[in-house]
This record gives sequence, C-alpha cells and structure tokens, in this order.
Amino acid sequence: MITSDSLLEGAKEVARKLRDHGFESYFAGGCVRDLLLGQEPKDYDIVTDATPDQVTALFKRTFEVGAAFGVVRVLWSKGREYEVATYRTEALYTDGRRPDVVAYSKSKEEDVTRRDFTINALLMEPVSGEILDFVGGRADLAAQILRAVGDPEERFKEDKLRMLRAVRFSARLGFAIEPRTRAAVAKHAAEIGVVSVERIVMELHALFLTERPGQGWRDLVELGLAIGIFKTFGFEPPGEITAARLDRIPRELSPEARLSIAWAVILDGAELDLEELLRSLKLSREMIRSTMNLLRRAEALASPERLRLADRVRIAIDPELPVYLAYLSALDHAGAIARWHQEFEALARDPLPPLPLIGGADLKALGIPQGPRYKELLKAVETETLERRIRTKEEAIELVRSLIA
Ligand code: ATP
Ligand code: MG
Repeated sequence: MITSDSLLEGAKEVARKLRDHGFESYFAGGCVRDLLLGQEPKDYDIVTDATPDQVTALFKRTFEVGAAFGVVRVLWSKGREYEVATYRTEALYTDGRRPDVVAYSKSKEEDVTRRDFTINALLMEPVSGEILDFVGGRADLAAQILRAVGDPEERFKEDKLRMLRAVRFSARLGFAIEPRTRAAVAKHAAEIGVVSVERIVMELHALFLTERPGQGWRDLVELGLAIGIFKTFGFEPPGEITAARLDRIPRELSPEARLSIAWAVILDGAELDLEELLRSLKLSREMIRSTMNLLRRAEALASPERLRLADRVRIAIDPELPVYLAYLSALDHAGAIARWHQEFEALARDPLPPLPLIGGADLKALGIPQGPRYKELLKAVETETLERRIRTKEEAIELVRSLIA
C-alpha cells in the first residue's frame, strides 16, 4: 500500500533529482491546490524546464504519455508514478478544444498563465513548501473563488471544455464562480457542442460525483450549458427538480450505481427514445442497461402496492435492490421505501425455499415436449412459490401436472 506520505516523498525525490541535475522543478496544478486546502492530492504533477528528452535520460523507467504535450511519466518505484511536464506555452486554438501549437518554454510564468483557473495555477517549491503565485491564486483560494487566469472570454473561446471544468471545480470545492468568469461562461455556453461527447460525459460524471451535484446541475442549467449539451438530442432538461434529486442520491453506493441513478433522474419524464439518447452519449453498455432498468421499473418501484405479491417479492430478492432503494431516495419516495422495507421483513419472517424448485429437466422427465410451454410452466411455478402456495419440489411437480392436465 502506498501511503499519501510516501506518494509525497516520492514526488519530492523526483523533483530533487531534476534539481540536482541543474533543472528547475516545482509541484504544479491540482496537487498544490489540494495541499493548500488541507486535502490529500490524488496525484502529483511536476513541472520543469528540462525537455522531455532530458527528463527521459535522467530517470530509469519512463514513458511518454502526451509526447505532443511534453509530458513524461516517471515510474519512481512500485505504485509511485509522477507526470513530469516541460514548461510550455500554447497558442492558436482553432478547434475550440486543443491548441494548434505547443511550444516548450524556459519560463514557469508562461507555463502558469496557460492554465485554466487561478487556484489551479500555483507552483510549490517541493522541499521548502514555498508557494509561487503569479496569478493571485492564493487570494482566490482563501476567498473561495474560482476565477479564470487572464481574460475569461479568451480562455473559454480557446477551450470550451474549461466551461464545464469551471462548474465542476465550483461544485467540488463549494467555491463561487467569479462574476466575470461566470458571465463569460454564460456568453459562450452554446458553443459547448464543439467538445466531443465523450469529454462532455466525463466531465458530467465527475460533476455528479462531487460533493454538490445539485449546485453543479443548477449552474449547468442557469448558464446555458445544459441546453447546449442536450438540445441536439431534442431534450430540454429541467433545473430545480433534477438538482434536488441529484443531491439526494446516497453517497455510499458505487460510483457506477450513483451515475446510473443520476442519468435516470435527469431523464425522468423525457418524451424521447431514452435508450437511443443514452447510446448517443456513448455511455458504457452496462451503464445504459442499469439506467434503462431503473427507468423501466420506476413506476413499479414507486407504487409497490399496485403489484401482485409475486412481483413484489421478485423485486425484493433482486440483487440490484440497494440501487432501486437509492433511486427511490433520490426521487424522494419515502413511502415506497418504507413499503419495501416491510416486504423484506415479511421475507425474513417467512423465508422462501431455495429457488428454483424445478427446472427444464424435471419437465422433460414428466414427458412434456420441449417448447415455449416450458417457460410458461416454470414461471407459473415460480409465481406460486413466491406467493408461498407451494414450498417443495413435490408440490411444484403436482402443480405442473394439474396445469397440463
Ligand atoms: P483533479 O483533482 O480533478 O485531477 P486537477 O487540477 O489535477 O484536478 P487535471 O484535469 O488533472 O485537474 O489537470 C491538471 C492541471 O492542468 C490543472 O490543475 C490545470 O492547471 C491544468 N489544466 C487541465 N486542463 C486544462 C485546460 N483544459 N485548460 C487549461 N489548463 C488545464
Ligand atoms: Mg489531476
């Protein structure tokens, strides 16, 4: 197990090695922000004036991750890897997402000013912990403000993905988006469509998993990003109801389950081919399956009293039940949740026999010719078992005999 201390120690060692060879090196970006906030960085990015070739020559095990961007991944020891990026400047964004030209630079100041937000543009002296702040990031951290580096409009025109990043960091940290930065997002929100759907969905997923998904969703709707993202699908997502529901998704579930529930609450009530929409968003097959499963069951889950007993028991013994209940929490159906709890208590008092009582081989032994009848008969046996009218194999066979007679 790599502890957070040893991850930090390794980062210092990598930085020190660069310095011992006459290069500059600093911690940069997210890790500095997180350290100053007293949060644990999930990784350390190191910046240097050494070129990628010089970095590669210095360390035993390296591989180039973003060769075009001058990023070298250094494998320092088992489980400890660091991205070492050469200072760079970026110029000429013509596709609204990526710079056309990336040039290495000898200046850390230049490297910092190409970064998106002031709180993401701080450098830290790896050994002394001294902060180098060229953009006012420390003051913004203290004041809890998310502010674009430089002219916000220019920055969002260059790279439209930054608009979603603004909303995500604001939701994650609980920081206000600085008014000019916010106005610039609102002004350019309609252009979000130039970003690939995969990148948009990655950002949305990260946003849904922050501490404040509801705040993030409100911002997406208010700033016009939600309509910019979904209008090509003919879908205008609602604001407030969805925001409140996203905030009620229980945190203790797996990220995958939380994301399926998020999509189900966002799409609730949309008059569209929902499966088609989920496919257009290029969600994984598993996420599409589980989201559609929730949407299809929404009515049954919300009104268990309208189901026959066997159908209630089928849901109560479904391995996905915790996800169903979390979905009901998000929808604020406390009554239905209480009703489902009664259903498990009933099951605990009067347990089911091991299922299934009989299978195809038993039907064959009874001399029934193979065919679609099998499925019907087995389903009938299952229903009677779930409703506790039969409990043994013998009773099941008796039932089949009476059904085919
Ligand atoms: P997280 O904890 O979510 O990874 P992070 O700040 O590390 O947060 P990354 O996406 O890993 O974010 O990016 C690392 C750093 O690179 C950022 O802190 C920022 O300085 C810079 N950066 C990343 N994406 C962009 C972008 N689209 N435009 C400008 N700078 C960016
Ligand atoms: Mg990061």
